[in-house]
Amino acid sequence: MSKSEATAGVPSILLKSGHTIPQLGFGVWQIEPSDTARVVSEALSVGYRHIDTAPVYGNEPGVGQAVAASGLDREDVFITTKLWNDQQSDDNPKTALYRSLEALSVEYVDLYLIHWPMPKVGTYLNAWEKLIELRDMGLTRSIGVSNHLPSHLDRLAVETGVVPDVDQIELHPAHQQQDVQAWASAHGMRVESWGPLGQGKYPLLQSEPVRAAAEAHGTSSAQVVIRWHLQNGLILFPKSSRRERMIENLHVFEFELSADEMAAIDAMDRPDGSGRVGSDPLVFNDGVVPDS
Ligand code: NAD
Repeated sequence: MSKSEATAGVPSILLKSGHTIPQLGFGVWQIEPSDTARVVSEALSVGYRHIDTAPVYGNEPGVGQAVAASGLDREDVFITTKLWNDQQSDDNPKTALYRSLEALSVEYVDLYLIHWPMPKVGTYLNAWEKLIELRDMGLTRSIGVSNHLPSHLDRLAVETGVVPDVDQIELHPAHQQQDVQAWASAHGMRVESWGPLGQGKYPLLQSEPVRAAAEAHGTSSAQVVIRWHLQNGLILFPKSSRRERMIENLHVFEFELSADEMAAIDAMDRPDGSGRVGSDPLVFNDGVVPDS
């Protein structure tokens, strides 16, 4: 596979770290560990060059096997992994990243994220200080957080002077988290959308504004929602184990949503949080005991 075939028109976004990230990638949550090497090989073969994983998904080894087997240069595949919640305290983030590098069979990752803030446990600031060290050691090129709200982001920035390169949050038309997006714009941070299609739980793909745009452009509803993220400058990595959907989700560069179509989808937001399909970052895993 050549590099040009690879990128399939996917734009690159420049992060504060000075490194670039393909705006559209492939997520592997809930892909069975035993099936991950096959699925990720398929994703790489249809053109994805950005893979989002985490140790808690149990499938880092499969991601690493697929990248190694692809014959692609390591530099040409962007790999994100994350620090799980029970590893935030003391020097544990360092041990955890070494374990992830071993599982992935790579010498560095492109992006390392704190998976959840667990504000009541109170260890995310320590974790952030350790991620800064890990970046300075060259074990990860960029660093960021996930599921962090403006109050958490403020604390990290004020205490360390280092703003995360990205915050990966649940984001789709029904749950846009405009407060995090505004914080990102004000601080030069980029936002990544997890659950970009609403995880199939929220009836996004059947909604009227999405269906109308899909009909107008002769595309699928999923392609419309992916375009909406891209045109909003968001980074995303929808997941599918099916080859035809992998291809469909990547081929979204031949059409553009109009301002009216974007506005109609924007209007689906539920700022009261009722569109959320995942966990609430203010309380998720607050029972986790550090060092357990
Ligand atoms: P998603 O919104 O990408 O939804 C995935 C589901 O949508 C698939 O299981 C499939 O059923 C359906 N789908 C995919 N393509 C489709 C198509 N073309 N047409 C119709 N249906 C389609 O949800 P996700 O997997 O949760 O999110 C993407 C990635 O985000 C994950 O794989 C993971 O890497 C990351 N993630 C991160 C966090 C976090 O806390 N940081 C949480 C959840 C997910």
